[in-house]
Amino acid sequence: MTPLHIAIVGAGPAGCYTADQLTRKLPDARIDIYDRLPTPYGLIRGGVAPDHQGTKAIVRQFERSFARGNVRFRGNVEVGRDVAYEDLKAAYHAVVIASGALEDRRLGIPGEDLAGVYGSGRFVGWYNGIPDCSGLAPRIDGPAAAIIGNGNVALDIARILGKTSAELAASDICAHAAAQLARAGLTDIYLIGRRGPCEAAFSAAELAELGRLEQVAPCVDAPLPAEPPADWDETRRKAALKNLEILRGFAATEWTDKPLRLHFLFHATPVAIAGEGTVAALRLVRSPLADGEEAEFTLPVNTVITAIGYRARPIPGVPFDTGRGIVKHEEGRVEPGVWTTGWCKRGPQGVIPANRSDALATADAIAANLAAAEQPAKPGGSAIDARLQDRGIEVVDFPGWQRIDTQEVAAGQGKPREKLVATAALLAAARQPETAR
Ligand code: NAP
Repeated sequence: MTPLHIAIVGAGPAGCYTADQLTRKLPDARIDIYDRLPTPYGLIRGGVAPDHQGTKAIVRQFERSFARGNVRFRGNVEVGRDVAYEDLKAAYHAVVIASGALEDRRLGIPGEDLAGVYGSGRFVGWYNGIPDCSGLAPRIDGPAAAIIGNGNVALDIARILGKTSAELAASDICAHAAAQLARAGLTDIYLIGRRGPCEAAFSAAELAELGRLEQVAPCVDAPLPAEPPADWDETRRKAALKNLEILRGFAATEWTDKPLRLHFLFHATPVAIAGEGTVAALRLVRSPLADGEEAEFTLPVNTVITAIGYRARPIPGVPFDTGRGIVKHEEGRVEPGVWTTGWCKRGPQGVIPANRSDALATADAIAANLAAAEQPAKPGGSAIDARLQDRGIEVVDFPGWQRIDTQEVAAGQGKPREKLVATAALLAAARQPETAR
């Protein structure tokens, strides 16, 4: 029988879950997972907060897929730049686009391009060691920063900005970021939601964590509603009630000895970022208004971090829905032989395990499709390997990643790892067995 060849674009949770499912449904298929970075695991390495190590445990499951002889990691290969999408379609029986949502959404307000304004993807990538974000050196010298958005990414950033060096010691935050955070002079962080506390997308556990930090005083100045709207479904009401209870606890606490105030501002929509070259203030409009309140107000801040979601980065040739910032698809099907899964399909929503059911559906659809007709012989990854070699692209395979991993863990010295952050250093580590150095 013709061996089946499948390419997955993106080695993040969506791509890895899909490979895992495909190996169960099509145990003889040969699967190649391409990633633009020399390292696998996407958001797990570059997005999940460095102090939430437990969330990263899922990689153990993905490692088992790569340990199977028929799943290959092809790192440091950017589809659309190093290899054409058309070439993948020609070489493989099925292609899965699982490239995530790499671009920060923009607010679309004046001043967004001033120095000192950062999208959460870039900012998180800076402290998590994504090679193209590691040199960001953000302005966090204070005294005040605004984080726009009321989701879990905003909470992650507030917590990382608020933690002391001692509190970050057991994390895998990159040394360059830990050093800069240790020197940061922030006294006030404003966490800004355009809607109310009930509508915030915070997870209760992450919200509550902010009340247990050494130097952070979470402040809620405006009155909180007694409860969420009565017509909300039970799940939504429960989540909102829990968050309200935590916020009420913050409001009732007298934080006397904590030097960094974290202000929750609700019902405040940013309308402009002001400054001469660099950020000096954020202008917002409050709605609804309490008696005697002015609609527009200004916060003096030196840093603005937007945590308002992401868009997929288009891959040349892959059909793209520009309005929604996702791959164009119908129930995961992009075009004959091509599927999409994960955040580039659904948009940036849901926790990591939410990709599992999506991956299952994708693998089912691919297996059914490939079983429906006799498949022609295709060259699979060997054809692409040859092209990459001709172009001088240095591919990192799974053993190469394991060499990086070993070296990072060894460099951790008390931390889970010290990440290599420059592409050249990652490639050198992938090339070089530890003993040969
Ligand atoms: P999110 O949960 O969708 O939150 C985005 C926030 O940005 C919302 O509060 C949204 O407000 C706000 N927003 C959007 N456009 C805005 C604008 N123009 N002006 C002001 N505010 C705006 O997204 P996220 O925080 O990026 O997280 C992405 C996903 O990853 C979520 O599913 C999240 O739960 C998950 N995640 C989970 C964890 C964890 O479990 N620990 C950690 C990080 C991320 P509206 O609601 O008004 O639109």
